[in-house]
Amino acid sequence: MPFHLPEPWRVKVVEPIRLPTPETREQRLAAAGFNLFDVPAEAIFIDLLTDSGTAAMSDNQWAGLMLGDESYAGARSYYRFEEAVHEVFGFPHLIPVHQGRVAENLLFSTLVDAGSIVPNNNHFDTTRANIEIHGARALDLVIDEGRDPDSDHPFKGNIDLDKARRLFETTPRERIPLAMLTLTNNSGGGQPVSLANVRAYAELCHEFGIPFYIDACRFAENAYFIQQREEGQAARSVAEIAREVFDLADGCTMSAKKDGLANMGGFVASRNRELIETLTQRLILIEGFPTYGGLAGRDLEAVARGLREVLDPEYLRFRVGQLEAFGRRIHELGVPIIRPVGGHAVYVDARRFLPHIPPAEFPAQALVVALYREGAVRGVEIGSVMFGRTDPETGEKSYADLELVRLAVPRRVYTNTHLAYVVEVLEQIRDRRDRLKGLRMVHEAPVLRHFTARFEELA
Ligand SMILES: *Cc1c(COP(=O)(O)O)cnc(C)c1O
Repeated sequence: MPFHLPEPWRVKVVEPIRLPTPETREQRLAAAGFNLFDVPAEAIFIDLLTDSGTAAMSDNQWAGLMLGDESYAGARSYYRFEEAVHEVFGFPHLIPVHQGRVAENLLFSTLVDAGSIVPNNNHFDTTRANIEIHGARALDLVIDEGRDPDSDHPFKGNIDLDKARRLFETTPRERIPLAMLTLTNNSGGGQPVSLANVRAYAELCHEFGIPFYIDACRFAENAYFIQQREEGQAARSVAEIAREVFDLADGCTMSAKKDGLANMGGFVASRNRELIETLTQRLILIEGFPTYGGLAGRDLEAVARGLREVLDPEYLRFRVGQLEAFGRRIHELGVPIIRPVGGHAVYVDARRFLPHIPPAEFPAQALVVALYREGAVRGVEIGSVMFGRTDPETGEKSYADLELVRLAVPRRVYTNTHLAYVVEVLEQIRDRRDRLKGLRMVHEAPVLRHFTARFEELA
C-alpha cells in the first residue's frame, strides 16, 4: 500500500543532502569506530537519529524571527509566548527555559530530595537523571501491555493505576513531592496515554494530595491519538482535548524541541504561584531573566507560533499517518517492529531480525551500521550499547531487555519519498541479513557510554 497522504505543505526553501559514495561511507564508519554519533551530519543522507530540535519551521515561524524583540526585560516576544502557553495549556504561571531538561532541573531541585519517590509511566532519561541526582527514586509504573512488544493495546503509554494507588497508600505523603505522566511515553516507544487514564491518575493524585505534573513534550501527538482512538472523542478538536488534559494537571514541563516545532526552547508551567516564584530565583542563576529564560526573543517567537501550528488537524493527520505508513511498510517487509507504531518513531526489533547475532555482539548496533553502509541512513541503537554496562570492579557485563533500532522521524523535514527510500534500504538489508556481522566494543566510557563507545566488526 502506498503512503496514503501527501504532505500538507509545499517546499519554499531547500537544504541539499547528498548520498556519499560507498567508499566514503566505509571510511566514515571506520573513522567513527562504527559509532554513528561520531559521523558528521554532512555524511548522512537521511538522518533519523532523533525528532528533537530537528523540525522544519514554517514560513510563519521564520517570519516571526524577524519580529523577535531582543529587549532584556519585558520583550514583546515574551508576552506573545506567554499568551500562546496560556491559550494552549491554560496554566497561569510559567517560565521559559532553553530546553526541557532545564525545566526538570528547576522543578526537581526545588521539590525533590534524598528519599523522595517520583512515579511516572516511564521516565525519560533526562527526567530520571534529574531526579536520581538528588538521591531520589524515579519509579516507572507503565501498564504491563506497555512493556510487551506484541501487545496492540491502543494506549500502551497508560500508567498502572493499581500500582500507583498501592504506592500512594504505602508511602508517607511527604516522600512523594509530585507525580508525573509523560505524553506520549517516549521511553516506552512514543505510545499514547488515554484521556480516561490521565483523568483517573489526576483524581488519584489529588485524593492523596500529591501535585500532578505532565511531561508535555509530545502533547499534540498524544491528543491526536485520543481523538482517533478513544471512545467519545472523535468529534472534539485536538486543541480542546489537549486543553482538557492540562486542565486535569497542576503543571507541566515542556521541551519545545518536540511538539513546539522549534529547534530550541521549553518551559515549566504551574498553577502554583509560589512554586514558580521559587523556580524563578534559580532560573535567574542558571538561565537568565524570567522574560527570556535562556532564549533569544526570536526563539520565543518561533515557539509561540509552533505551539499553535502543531495543533493543526491537517498537520497531525499527516504526521501520525506518515509514521503509521512507514511502520506498516517495514512490517510488510517481514522486518519485526514494535507495534502499534507510536507518535514519533518506528522501533525495529533487532534481536528478532538478526537472531544469529547474540546480545554480547550488539545486534541493534550491527543494524545501525548496516543502515549507514547500505544507504547512509542514521538510526540510533536503543539496546545493550545504551543500557548495558561493564561493572568497573568485577568486569561483569550486563545487557538490555530489548535490542531496538529507533528510526525517529523529524517533523515536517522528510517527505514520504525519503521514507520510501529508507524502506528500500531495509529491504536490501533484509535480503542479506544472514551475512551481517556483530561488533566488539573496544572503548567504553563509565557513564552514557553509547555517545562515545567505539567498536570493531567481528569477522
Ligand atoms: C526530550 C525530552 C525531554 C528533555 O528535553 P530536552 O529539550 O532534550 O532537554 C524530557 N522528556 C521527554 C519525554 C523528552 O522526550
